[in-house]
Order: sequence, then structure tokens, then C-alpha cells
Amino acid sequence: MAKDKQFAVIGLGRFGSSVAKTLHQLGYEVLAIDSNEETVQKFADEVTHVAIADTTDANSLKALGIRNFDVVVVAIGEDVQANVLTTLVVKELGVHYIIAKARNELHGKMLEKIGADKIVYPERDMGQRVAHNLVSTNVLDYVELSPNLGLVEVRIPRKFIGQSLAEVNLRATYGVNVVAIKRGQQLIVSPRPDEKMNDNDILIVVGDTSGIQRLESNV
Ligand code: ADP
Repeated sequence: MAKDKQFAVIGLGRFGSSVAKTLHQLGYEVLAIDSNEETVQKFADEVTHVAIADTTDANSLKALGIRNFDVVVVAIGEDVQANVLTTLVVKELGVHYIIAKARNELHGKMLEKIGADKIVYPERDMGQRVAHNLVSTNVLDYVELSPNLGLVEVRIPRKFIGQSLAEVNLRATYGVNVVAIKRGQQLIVSPRPDEKMNDNDILIVVGDTSGIQRLESNV
């Protein structure tokens, strides 16, 4: 992504503030907006620009030149009405790419209908990650790619050490594909079938949820 890309983040709660700070740390220009004056003041040194505004008001957003931002993140969480209205206003003002945070599936559907380009569910996603992590100590991370498809990082089971990917054949056994192997600092992307697995290797695997679950409970 070009570093001249400009981001606006609306709603500086736990999620929005983390998104804004991280983008700024990565070197992007970030405008952070919140209706709460105290919140905004605390944030002044963390991003490029800050603004106090009620973002359900189209005129305030227009005055901030929201249209000129490449990506707008609507991170208002608790107040669903303010979240939905803000997304609507941002869309109507012609922003090209809107990311909106949803509290649940219904809220997400609503945001989709309004025209948000990407809907994120931080609480749900983190809950899933923690749960997958709890099920098996070998699972290091889990990301849902779609309702039936997941990506998981697993420590290789001891029984796999010294064997090649072709020999363990995870595709036949669990219906999952190894997209990469993490070996210390090295990342082997699209490993060859004859790649032998070492102690301490971490597999990055994509597959349907049921296959991943079987893999998690067997490793
Ligand atoms: P999280 O769950 O990520 O912590 P919160 O819902 O607690 O998110 O925080 C959302 C932030 O959005 C708060 O700082 C709040 O002041 C801000 N906010 C709420 N309504 C509006 C609005 N209409 N305009 C601008 N900011 C708003």
C-alpha cells in the first residue's frame, strides 16, 4: 500500500485507537475523529491530525474534507445507531473505501446494505482465536477467512518430524493445504511436497473448518 494513502479513523475506543495508532506507526497519514473532546485531546500526539466532531452530522464530516481520504474506518462500537448513521453519511459523501466495525451479524448485514466495503467483527474474531487457542496448545493462531474456511498456525506434531509434506499428506487426511512453513526466522511459502519437517516448525494451513478442527484435536 502506498505510504501516501490517507486514512481517517472515526471513534477512538479500544478498537479505533489501536487501528489509528498502528497506521500512524506504519508511516501513514491518519486523521482521528471522535465526538469526545477529552478522548481527542489525549490522542493529539499519537496521529497526524485529530478532530472533535459528531460524525452523524454530514456537515461536520464535509468540513473535515472526509471525501479526500482514501480509506475511512468507522470504529464506533457501542452506539450502533451512531455507527450506522456515520457509515451512511461517509458513503453519501463519496468515500471510496469504508471499513466498518460491526457488533454482530445483523449489524454487519445492515452495514453491507448501506455500502460499507469491508465489515470487521473484532470481538467475534478475537473470541474465535482465543477459543481455537484453548482447544489445542499446538494452535498458535486462527483466522476465519469465510464461514467455512479458516487459516491456522499449528506447531508440528512430534510424529511428523523428519517426514516430508507428501508423506504426512495433510490434504488427504484432513482436507487442508499447507501454504507455508515457519522455520525460525525463515518463511517457506508454498513448500514443495518433498520438504522435510524439522523440530519446532510451524505450519500455516488453510482448509475447511471441519478439517481444521480435526487437525487441531489430533496434533
Ligand atoms: P470500543 O468497543 O472499540 O472500545 P467504543 O464504542 O467504546 O468502542 O468507543 C467508540 C468511540 O466512538 C468513543 O470514544 C465515542 O466517543 C466515539 N463516538 C460515539 N459516537 C460518536 C459520534 N456520533 N461521533 C463521533 N464519535 C463518536
